Amino acid sequence: MPELPEVETVARDLRPRLVGATIVGARTNWVRTLRSQDPVGFADGVTGRIVLAVGRRAKQLVVELSGDVALTIHLKMTGQLFVVPAELPEDPYVRLVLELADGRELRFRDIRKFGKIGLYGRDPVTGELLEEVGGSAVFAGVGPEPLDPSFTLRDFRKLVRRRKGRLKPLLTDQSFLAGVGNIYADEALWRAKLHPLRSASSLRPPDERRLYEAVRAVLAEAVERRGSSIDDYTAPDGDGSMQEALDVYQRTGLPCPRCGHPIKRIIIGARSTHFCSWCQRLSGADRTAAGAILRGMTGGARRHGRRWSELDAGGQDAPDSVARAERTRRAAATRRAAARSSAGAG
Ligand SMILES: [Zn+2]
Repeated sequence: MPELPEVETVARDLRPRLVGATIVGARTNWVRTLRSQDPVGFADGVTGRIVLAVGRRAKQLVVELSGDVALTIHLKMTGQLFVVPAELPEDPYVRLVLELADGRELRFRDIRKFGKIGLYGRDPVTGELLEEVGGSAVFAGVGPEPLDPSFTLRDFRKLVRRRKGRLKPLLTDQSFLAGVGNIYADEALWRAKLHPLRSASSLRPPDERRLYEAVRAVLAEAVERRGSSIDDYTAPDGDGSMQEALDVYQRTGLPCPRCGHPIKRIIIGARSTHFCSWCQRLSGADRTAAGAILRGMTGGARRHGRRWSELDAGGQDAPDSVARAERTRRAAATRRAAARSSAGAG
């Protein structure tokens, strides 16, 4: 699923294409793409408005429109956005179209249909996007933006010290930090030499500093490289290249770039976690507690019939699963190429 760097890249690519454009209509063939599930109300709500800005908050695009309203676009698993001439034939995966006055269209393409688009008004006083008049703010409860220049080590320390959880689920918790998901949590923990099951409360000040710096560095590098095109993520100006610079994510069994030991994979909260058990050590106390958690899980490691100790001892994937991963990557690359050619993007 696209994380902060991928969504930021889409926002940057869309900005020069959309800012200043006037919306003259909207149509949808999958009503659940709209948070309101009201295509007529949505079309009425956007028609005649001018795009003022294209930005991002957490993992969502925020398209500011004239008249103090904004669109939020959540790409979820397979959402893609392209701006194309209206006469270009529409492929069957396009769920929603914004028609522009200059003869172009913004098309939201989404194979898996998990993507969501919302239209919200702003609170005249606070400027926050509201769910409805007098309702709660759309981004209430979302944590700070890790790349915001005003987000300091001191702020990070305050956040971490309020938390008790383990580092991997904590980093991907959007109420803790905005925009970090599975890929960049694994990468940041590896860079900071911290085990994904380490408890936040066990961090010493130097650990906190390394984690803060690693999260920001990996996200900034990923933005620079236009994100990781691993699954369906692509952007109007093309795929990202961060997937080539990842150190642990989906590199199970390959040598750790720092120490050469094979990268391990465990399941935490039903999601794959990649790490180096040599560079990212767990203390004895954390290890005992982590073992209990993993044995007590109803999904994840237990579902696979393995215990923590076995996973830790032999995390290498069998050669057939490496081959399977390669096939999955090739299939995704083919899907991205098809998406780009159907969008006339070459
Ligand atoms: Zn290592």
